[in-house]
Amino acid sequence: MPAVPADDPRRRIPRTDHLLGLPEVQAAAGSMSRGVVASLVRAVQDRARQGQIPPEQVEPELLATLAARAPASLRPVLNATGVIVHTNLGRAPLSEAARRALLDAAGYADVEFDLATGARSRRGVGARAALLAACPGAQDALVVNNGAAALVLATTALAAPGPTSDRPREVIVARGELIEIGAGFRLPDLIASTGARLREVGTTNRTHLADYAEAIGPNTACVLKIHASNYRITGFTAEASIAELHGLCADAGIPLLADLGSGLLRPDPTLPDEPDLETALRAGADAVIASGDKLLGGPQAGLLLGTTELIARLSRHPLARAVRADKLALAALEATLSGADAPVARFLHTDAPALRARTEAFAARAGLGADAVVAHDGRVGGGGGAEVPLPGWALALPEQLAGALRIGSPAVVATVRDGACLIDLRCIEESDEDTLLGAIEAARDAVSRDAS
Ligand SMILES: *Cc1c(COP(=O)(O)O)cnc(C)c1O
Repeated sequence: MPAVPADDPRRRIPRTDHLLGLPEVQAAAGSMSRGVVASLVRAVQDRARQGQIPPEQVEPELLATLAARAPASLRPVLNATGVIVHTNLGRAPLSEAARRALLDAAGYADVEFDLATGARSRRGVGARAALLAACPGAQDALVVNNGAAALVLATTALAAPGPTSDRPREVIVARGELIEIGAGFRLPDLIASTGARLREVGTTNRTHLADYAEAIGPNTACVLKIHASNYRITGFTAEASIAELHGLCADAGIPLLADLGSGLLRPDPTLPDEPDLETALRAGADAVIASGDKLLGGPQAGLLLGTTELIARLSRHPLARAVRADKLALAALEATLSGADAPVARFLHTDAPALRARTEAFAARAGLGADAVVAHDGRVGGGGGAEVPLPGWALALPEQLAGALRIGSPAVVATVRDGACLIDLRCIEESDEDTLLGAIEAARDAVSRDAS
């Protein structure tokens, strides 16, 4: 390495042991690993070595970085898109009750322990009881890691080769229900990956009860009905209902599973075409599968609700242990089910005229008139309600603000459409409006600074 001349400013860069010895750095090291602290020190020194900051700036910059540093890299986002179950933004935001439950469960908790007797207890009894109270049509419930895990567990336990049968058995599914959901995730591939054999029946647009009846044979493990949660087949279509399939499956002595995806507990007039768990169970599904973080509005979880016999069979399978829900998810799920309306339900049932009035008032606070408020449909998003527009309103800001809002603090994600940056308040809590206004002002400042 070439010697650094005596008058080079780089000689004034504070040394590592000096920086590590600063009281603020010592304090920060209490909540951060040594490795992280060391890499932050090195990064600031490097900026000075490369001349990006003067040596005198190293210490203040390091302290500012440490003060601003969150314990994890996930950053909170204000969702101004109007898309309620936004897959890229973590799906359902949790209710206040669920957030509290997460904190309560974060340390040691009686997740498998009966405090009254001191004996070991069944895991997740509280979440199970809350699910059964919410869905009286179910006899028993099991919570696993996510919807995909629930599907894998069910098809593995019923149809994969294993201890009781060395050849794969068939899962009968209608062709029009073999869907791909986000990020190239295909349900038929998932089912095939378990070793079960997929038996497709019907055609893309029409499947009749007779198609299922013809396919059922000695090697049938179950019939699986999948809700096409993210698209719709319209026009000349036909499908067999759960009630019809129930009759067929009961006669054949095979279980009927329904993967409903969205996790809607009961019928909701806002989403007339969305199937719900209670109705599917009452219509005769032996087990229903759903996600916890879609329309149910809870944490990531896979829910299996159904008959005592079938849920016991799935719970006993070794794979159940590999896909079990963690204590945080169990706590948040129970709190979501037994608490007041979760944010997802409130956002879904937002009244359009009230949203308009709220958006106009917000526009005024941002120094804009009512003409900046435009019609903007909200969406359910990745959780269901395919294609159903939710009538609403948004504030139209200059398009250039979108990028500045995204990288601001807090980050605000908006929609860019027709040359405007649209701020939809549907999924913004009223208590976050001041923060949002501050973020918009900061983004305006950043954009005008860049322009000048
Ligand atoms: C979302 C969805 C799944 C997957 O659930 P995850 O909780 O995302 O694993 C499975 N089936 C259907 C019909 C879905 O909509």
